[in-house]
Amino acid sequence: MSSHLAIVLSRRDFGESDQIIFLYTLERGKVEALAKGVKKIISKNSSALEPFCLIEVEFAACHHTKNFGVVVGKELDRLIRARAINIFAGIRGDLDKSFMAQYAVALVNKMAPAEEKDDGIFSLLFDWLAWLEKAETAGTGLLYGFIVKLFKRFGFEPEPSKCVACGQLPAVGDYVFYPMGGGRVCSVCRQARLGERFVKLDRQDARDFAALADGKWARAGEVRSENLFVFITEFIQCHSESKLAYFAGI
Ligand SMILES: [Zn+2]
Repeated sequence: MSSHLAIVLSRRDFGESDQIIFLYTLERGKVEALAKGVKKIISKNSSALEPFCLIEVEFAACHHTKNFGVVVGKELDRLIRARAINIFAGIRGDLDKSFMAQYAVALVNKMAPAEEKDDGIFSLLFDWLAWLEKAETAGTGLLYGFIVKLFKRFGFEPEPSKCVACGQLPAVGDYVFYPMGGGRVCSVCRQARLGERFVKLDRQDARDFAALADGKWARAGEVRSENLFVFITEFIQCHSESKLAYFAGI
């Protein structure tokens, strides 16, 4: 049995009274664990397993998952005990903040490979939740800022100034962004990509994008640019496997 520090990403039902819990652990990266009996009314672990809780968790090796007596495949860790360290009550009590945090952990769950330790992702998520908790108002830019930083961590480095295709600096005042390429694109390279999707921004949008890419949360919370949000939404759609349709609703 071993103890881990983790942030809860998601939980889903498994059988009558069990759940599969997805966690981002400091020690092992994303881990999928089986919580037996967690849906029973008296389960002291249950409240600590809500999405975006920071918890201390203990696992025990579980050799096979069985459903109606049939082994269904992969080995899962068994979650033995979960203790809440920070439930981020300031986020939970605010509908907008809560929605953003739910979205952020769902995105990490979707993007992070299983069992790949990455302290950077753990601390990005933790720092961002801590910031969101104390932010006076939850500007949507905070969520977009998190997304840009997360994608950067996964190797999709945003490029707010040079053309992503040829590396040249586009003409003054020409701020067109290319979601597939993850940044700005010059007029020559656009010509070569007729029929592809571009988003026209302005100078302020480009500055805002650079601020989001730098992870300046105070600044990110003030970003209001709809066009920039459209670009980032399309960017993540290009680079994550599924269309995150509900994202457009915020
Ligand atoms: Zn170019």
